[in-house]
Amino acid sequence: MSEFRLYNTMTRSVDALTPEDGETVRMYTCGPTVYNPAHVGNFRTFLFEDLLRRAFRLRGWNVDQVMNLTDVDDKIIKRAAEKGLTIGQVTEPVIEIFHSDRRYLRIEDAETYPRATDHIPEMVALVEELMKKGIAYKAEDGSVYYAIDRFADYGKLSRLDTREIKSGARVSQDDYTKENAQDFALWKAAKEEDEKTEAAWDSPWGRGRPGWHLECSAMAMRYLGHTMDVHCGGVDLVFPHHEDEIAQSEGATGETFSRFWCHGEFLLTDGSKMAKRVGNVATVADMRAQGISAAAFRAFVFSTHYRKQLNLSPDALDAATEGVRRVGDFAERLAAARGGTPALVQIAAEAERDASEALFDDLNAPIAMGALFTFIRRANGELDKGGSDVPGLEAARHTFSRINGVLDIVPEGEVVDDADEIEARLAERREARQTRDFARSDAIRKELEGRGIEIKDGPTGTSWKRVR
Ligand code: AMP
Ligand code: ZN
Repeated sequence: MSEFRLYNTMTRSVDALTPEDGETVRMYTCGPTVYNPAHVGNFRTFLFEDLLRRAFRLRGWNVDQVMNLTDVDDKIIKRAAEKGLTIGQVTEPVIEIFHSDRRYLRIEDAETYPRATDHIPEMVALVEELMKKGIAYKAEDGSVYYAIDRFADYGKLSRLDTREIKSGARVSQDDYTKENAQDFALWKAAKEEDEKTEAAWDSPWGRGRPGWHLECSAMAMRYLGHTMDVHCGGVDLVFPHHEDEIAQSEGATGETFSRFWCHGEFLLTDGSKMAKRVGNVATVADMRAQGISAAAFRAFVFSTHYRKQLNLSPDALDAATEGVRRVGDFAERLAAARGGTPALVQIAAEAERDASEALFDDLNAPIAMGALFTFIRRANGELDKGGSDVPGLEAARHTFSRINGVLDIVPEGEVVDDADEIEARLAERREARQTRDFARSDAIRKELEGRGIEIKDGPTGTSWKRVR
């Protein structure tokens, strides 16, 4: 088996990765702050994490992924206070939208989606431990802060010069109860707004609520132990969020918090050319309204390496849509074929090798996509010969479903398995039309359309094709 290599922000190099226990990759992915539906930029990060977990499984490992939901923070409290609601009333519908958007994009379920508000005791215990070790202190305002100069490794992930951090001490003067301006809040003393919106809990330091960084440390260790394999997020999280998570967790346990730190670059949505045709595609709802399929968005995101910035542009989306059409046509052709040529066995083996090697080499999705397209071109060439070799066809199908199973450009399963079933539904529809039961024939059409099957009635009968 080939090595799996991944860029580690901690070492600034592409390093070989194996799960610590040899079997299961334990990964933590910082999740959304649920006060507004996540935007397409957030979803670029969640898609790269989805691809990473699928690549781990392709490599033969199990995955235990935790994605937190930040359901208490300043913005949520502000929104709740404005509307006279509790934070739960603000976050509940947003969490539902998050999961439905995620499913639309075929982002696999993580094993656990813990909510911050369900883990207050774990957070309080972590702060107590830091207090006991003398790394945290209670300030006059009733909040508890982390003393960064009592953790020697502070700054090791973002490689900020600690002295520079400390010299900033007099810059920010609003929070003069802190010992050092760069100390960050672990526990924030409750304000009236917090009480009113049910964002305050009891603690040994009085009523209050957790800081954002604390949530992730406590939940990551609760579900994945003191040391996990991979911790992911967007680049903006390197500092201060992940730096502070390390300070809290390692400060408390004295053990390495995460063996790998993996960060995805930003999706830029402010390209000037955006305005006209793509309009303001800010959320998955906008995407759906504009007819951008999950397949197109996945292909678009995977066209660029996760460590490079990506511009959301109409041209890039068009190119992705065109690529998706080719993959879809090929999937249909494979499903309908009755045989191929013996050469397909070799072609399939090469494609599978090239795609997996690319994914195992720092998750190189664009190269893997290239391997898929090369495979389609070569396999189409063989299928054009109209052979009847079954092992060749089987190899091509198997490889296609392996590669597509990771990139998930066309929905898995549907394509290869349900052609017969669709034909049967169409026969039923024909029958309904013959008996002038149009309500029933319309219902069947709607059902098939809902599954991404487009039906065309012509003079020679009904044809169908997959449109997503
Ligand atoms: P948030 O809800 O702001 O905590 O962000 C959730 C995730 O989305 C984090 O991993 C962020 O780093 C990531 N993120 C935020 N903005 C973008 C963007 N424009 N492109 C890619 N990822 C982003
Ligand atoms: Zn986090």
